[in-house]
Amino acid sequence: MRMKIASVIVDVPTKQTDKTFDYLIPDQWIDTIQPGMRVVVPFGPRKIQGFVTGIKIHSEFQKLREIVEPMDLEPVLNHELLELGNWLTEKTLCFKIFAFQVMLPAALKAKYEKSVELANGVKTSDLPGQLQTFFKSNSKINWEEALKSGIVPLLQREASKGHLEVLYEVKEKMKKKQLKFVSPLLSITELQDELDRLPARAEKQKEVLNFFVQNYKPVELRQLLVDLSISSATVKALVEKNFLIEQDREVYRDPYENRTFERTSPLPLTDSQQKAIQPILNSIEQKQHEVFLLYGVTGSGKTEVYLQSIREVIEKGQEAIVLVPEIALTPQMVNRFKGRFGDLVAVLHSGLSSGEKYDEWRKIQRKEVKVVVGARSAIFAPFENLGIIIIDEEHETSYKQEEMPRYHARDVAIERAKTYNCPVVLGSATPSLESFARAQKKVYQLLSLPSRMNNQSLPSVEIIDMREELRSGNRSMFSSKLFDMLKERIERKEQSVLFLNKRGHSSFVMCRDCGYVVNCPNCDISLTFHSKAGQMKCHYCGYESFVPKHCPECSSEYIRYFGTGTQKVEEELGKILPEARVIRMDVDTTGRKGAHERLLKDFQDGKADILLGTQMIAKGLDFPNITLVGVLSADTMLHLPDFRSSEKTFQLLTQVSGRAGRHELPGEVIIQTYTPEHYSVELAGTQDYDLFYSKEMMVRKSHHYPPFYYLSLITVSHEQLMAAVATTEKITAYIRSRVSDETVVLGPAASPIPRINNRYRYQCLIKYKREPDLPMTLKTILDQYQKDTASGLQVSIDINPFILM
Ligand code: ADP
Ligand code: ZN
Ligand code: ZN
Repeated sequence: MRMKIASVIVDVPTKQTDKTFDYLIPDQWIDTIQPGMRVVVPFGPRKIQGFVTGIKIHSEFQKLREIVEPMDLEPVLNHELLELGNWLTEKTLCFKIFAFQVMLPAALKAKYEKSVELANGVKTSDLPGQLQTFFKSNSKINWEEALKSGIVPLLQREASKGHLEVLYEVKEKMKKKQLKFVSPLLSITELQDELDRLPARAEKQKEVLNFFVQNYKPVELRQLLVDLSISSATVKALVEKNFLIEQDREVYRDPYENRTFERTSPLPLTDSQQKAIQPILNSIEQKQHEVFLLYGVTGSGKTEVYLQSIREVIEKGQEAIVLVPEIALTPQMVNRFKGRFGDLVAVLHSGLSSGEKYDEWRKIQRKEVKVVVGARSAIFAPFENLGIIIIDEEHETSYKQEEMPRYHARDVAIERAKTYNCPVVLGSATPSLESFARAQKKVYQLLSLPSRMNNQSLPSVEIIDMREELRSGNRSMFSSKLFDMLKERIERKEQSVLFLNKRGHSSFVMCRDCGYVVNCPNCDISLTFHSKAGQMKCHYCGYESFVPKHCPECSSEYIRYFGTGTQKVEEELGKILPEARVIRMDVDTTGRKGAHERLLKDFQDGKADILLGTQMIAKGLDFPNITLVGVLSADTMLHLPDFRSSEKTFQLLTQVSGRAGRHELPGEVIIQTYTPEHYSVELAGTQDYDLFYSKEMMVRKSHHYPPFYYLSLITVSHEQLMAAVATTEKITAYIRSRVSDETVVLGPAASPIPRINNRYRYQCLIKYKREPDLPMTLKTILDQYQKDTASGLQVSIDINPFILM
């Protein structure tokens, strides 16, 4: 019996199509098409992309349509990732097609052109005769041509031997990077003979042949021309004589190609590092899945523990995934991994072009690398022999994806690690409450690095009450203490970092007479002032407008923007400390590629006294000359409608403080705040995570929040207020009827941002400890309301939400 039927998930994200469709595999593809490949299938009148999830003998359906063609020669999703896709679908209630797509680099989702080419180092003569003719005149052949000529099965066989390779070229911009190479077509002795035979006046040609006798290998043409100072005509002449051959060769777009990485070797571990690493090594050794929480202050040597664990994994022939928050994926961070493991490291982050990302992904797919360091989506790296997964700064909320599939990288990591029987290491100086609680309950194994390397003391932290400053007549955004200390650093030629907590600190426009705040007409949220353009902008819908000259409410002229953007701080610094050289890092100054890195480099090279920035400077900075960190206002995040706001404030302040005094020079930290009595500010001041943990746990317990309860959030939106309310009411009632008494169902309530882009938003929040049937209930709701999408109703469900707005 031949396996003639393929089950396919098609690229149509709707409720009705969220299942496999059976297609007939045309005879010529029967041995070609495998699970995990992308295929083109007819769907209604169209041809669309799909993922083959299985191959079988029978279908319960009678009339099946045929697959048009395969899009891959080898599966892009292996068995494990296909299974993971099913798991993702179930856990996050997303469409299957989204689960598969999220695991692949964007280049594989886009429109593309396909071709097949000889793998590097493979000669035409290595191929079977029938194919040789195709590759004789061309180093690659177009996929369309291959289909027409009926040679795809042959190509596939050669591809599995590693002789050929399929290229996906996105039509617009995604091209594989090609360079012209020249290689000898004759053996060394033959070259030598020809060299002797060439007339003496062919001096340049002789030089080239001599070069290849000395260096018998392909050389990049441009480089050759420069090195031998010859013209391309010289090379051409030799190519025409069939001595040499010119070929296009793929080179990876390597974002780090112009950089050399100083190789580092493992450091002898300290006693506490040794104690921390041993259980991890045991888990690797015994192939026993375990989740470790590596809890250690910044500078306590966590990264060294990661590096040495990875080394063990590589030595066993296995692979490692390291997740780092996007904003911490600094060149410094990359250096530490590339420095230790060199070319075995691939890096995936959003700063790469889609071509670069695709090339890095291919290195993983082809097993050319052993380690991937990347942001959230790197958790789907297509390794097949994982030995460890590390999540640094595990408390970071950016590990949760806020669109379908709404997954948390930590959950995916644990799921994959279970499959491979390998450890997961979660590292943090300020673990999330969820993770620390699990460690307390021994679900995770707690490993601690209690002190900084060389027992450097943590920087001393001083909290400044800005209300007092105001009372004593200081209206500036700098307390007198911070001002004095900044001045002192400049005199001592030391560096300072000034941190502005941008989130929740948008500069809004307000009337000083009546307090009127300019809101977006489409969304119930204040507009943010951008001084560069002199405009106000809505961050949710993109609405823009100029600042009114008079208050629309009371006609007062005193309508101004408030809040301290980085620009404004820079201006003020210019006034009060004109001698200070300032580097500003925010979205405006780091927009262009490489800008982020250049600014940091300048700061490292001592080209500035003060580094001023937002969140993005909070992580990863490790410069010896930083002896002062100033937080301009600590409490801007505290007042967000988010039960994690205290936790986030504490984490951020602790993180920022950790930037000072990491080396010989002692560090000092100044935290300015309007609420010095708040425990998250106060305890960040004493860097007391344990106390913060127990206080915050009490708050969470009494308010029925995680980690005591799980949350699920349903958000309903509609252009008509009443429709949104009525649907949310129905959903809330339905849920109440299906859950236990212990479960809290809140709603219907207006969302904290009650309107976005003219759509009204209502929500229902479920807090529960144990509701085994809830996923089913939620799925029923989604199924039910999916049908109403046409009428403008949107229902979205976020399980374990991180943003409650
Ligand atoms: P963390 O990741 O916890 O912030 P790091 O691993 O970056 O800590 O270590 C802080 C500093 O201490 C780094 O400069 C690192 O090179 C150094 N370090 C780490 N482990 C050792 C060790 N065993 N011996 C000497 N120096 C070490
Ligand atoms: Zn007014
Ligand atoms: Zn808006």
